[in-house]
Amino acid sequence: MSTATIINGREVAAQLRRDIAGMVQARIEQGRSRPGLAVVLVGEDPASSVYVNSKIKACEEAGFLSRSFHLADTTAESELLALIDRLNGDASIHGILVQLPLPEHIDVPTVVERISPAKDVDGFHPFNLGRLAAKTPTLRPCTPYGCMRLLDAYGIDPGGQHAVVVGASNIVGRPAALELLLRGATVTVCHVRTRDLPAELARADIVLVAIGQPRFIRAEWLRPGATVIDVGINRLASGKLVGDVDFDAALDRVGAITPVPGGVGPMTIACLLQNTLEACEALDG
Ligand code: NAD
Repeated sequence: MSTATIINGREVAAQLRRDIAGMVQARIEQGRSRPGLAVVLVGEDPASSVYVNSKIKACEEAGFLSRSFHLADTTAESELLALIDRLNGDASIHGILVQLPLPEHIDVPTVVERISPAKDVDGFHPFNLGRLAAKTPTLRPCTPYGCMRLLDAYGIDPGGQHAVVVGASNIVGRPAALELLLRGATVTVCHVRTRDLPAELARADIVLVAIGQPRFIRAEWLRPGATVIDVGINRLASGKLVGDVDFDAALDRVGAITPVPGGVGPMTIACLLQNTLEACEALDG
């Protein structure tokens, strides 16, 4: 029988969301501002619509002001930039989130860099990424931040451990490596050009995977007792959601593992709320 701890992201995220709602309530009672989040969706990507709707719902449940903007996929880049400029100047908005991916005619770095770093609650602006790299984090990317909070909630200290991050995207892998480094782990980052992934994983006390390949990471590649954080979300032809790790097989080998769904996913939204509250506190006091 498996002795692995299944890391319950739903539970940890629900607690964080309750804490945030309590802090928002206290702000309102003290006559301080209500945190406001603007969510911008361009085009009709079905997965993006689902994410945006759950972010708006979570905002409302936490007592935030939420404003959503749904633009056509033919929207010119200049129009999107003009909307961001307006939101940057709107005192009732503390967080601006432009849902990715964007249509091909819009340049993602231009859009990300237009958002005021003080309102960049996705933590993707080079200023905020740079602060994380320089050991002085401000607003940090939600998914890696959520992964660190899961480790904290289960008393897993990355300090001195060997962490292997699989995937090097701007959204997950790279900032996750910076988060783990900040917490004192020895970090290896693997990606699609890594020559011998199983050999790298064999040395990992903590494995954080974000590649978007269903059940790609095999149980026998993992070190017995390792902690596994599976960020991947993949939908099989059957409709079932699975992670990047072969979860069922890994259960008999690892010390702790996040399930998909119910692991990292709920933490991403909770950390978006956390970032919006932090942005509000920094901007308005
Ligand atoms: P991406 O496609 O931008 O990047 C994938 C990375 O994985 C790249 O660096 C690539 O080099 C690496 N990679 C791909 N195949 C590999 C292989 N076989 N071996 C080693 N490295 C490989 O993806 P992303 O945006 O970082 O997302 C990754 C996964 O995480 C997706 O399934 C996505 O849906 C999921 N995701 C989940 C959340 C969440 O809230 N849980 C948030 C963001 C992304």
